[in-house]
Amino acid sequence: MGPPQSSRALILRTRAYGESDRIVTFLAEDHGKLTGIAKGARNSKRRFANCLNPFTLVRVHFRQRRSATLVFMDSCDLLRLPDTLAEPLKFAYGSYLVELVDLLTVEAEPVPKTFDLLANALDALRTGPATPAFLRSFELHLLADAGFAPRLDGCDSCQEELAAGTPCGFDATTGALLCSTCKTRRENLVDVSEAVRAALVRLIDLDPAAARSLRLPGDVRGETADLLGRWLSLHLPRPLKSLGLIESLTR
Ligand SMILES: [Zn+2]
Repeated sequence: MGPPQSSRALILRTRAYGESDRIVTFLAEDHGKLTGIAKGARNSKRRFANCLNPFTLVRVHFRQRRSATLVFMDSCDLLRLPDTLAEPLKFAYGSYLVELVDLLTVEAEPVPKTFDLLANALDALRTGPATPAFLRSFELHLLADAGFAPRLDGCDSCQEELAAGTPCGFDATTGALLCSTCKTRRENLVDVSEAVRAALVRLIDLDPAAARSLRLPGDVRGETADLLGRWLSLHLPRPLKSLGLIESLTR
């Protein structure tokens, strides 16, 4: 067993294991995504009390185990309960943010910016609604932090600046934006209007909480959501379960 370590962490998901244990996946500020075993967590009211539900901010005390993928969780200190996320729609949006982070991170690779992004977005969700601008800003920042930064200012092919006033094209197989000249040389590109590109530039300049009050006009809102959905699906290993929950609550 390695030396004791501790880190602030956000609980991403947890499940029962055996008679009394839990398997917990969390995003640790200093260590990235880790999955651990919390021995006796289903019976112990002391070491993990109220700490292992999704969205909870804790300080986790753990040890790495030699030749084992699961870390050994000694205990957790509760830092913040996800109290207001008990409301069904907020729970659904919180699940969406957490699921995206879970699917776009790999185990044991530190991603401190993603930790801050998720912590701040979950906090913002406690105090206000998940507006379209809030969600799109979160998705853009997450893609950027995961190393899939969408380039928004220049053509991926000729490198020329994307000219204001002319629509560009999105290549859904590579996730690249192409200028109006280069896009005529490829097939099956999705048109991206200047208004949508301008909205994306604005959304990545602001963190999700600050972007929340931006009003996206109806057509821009729909196109931006569609474009980011395509962008994300290029990098997601499976469809998002939380989308079904959101749809069932907003239909
Ligand atoms: Zn070009």
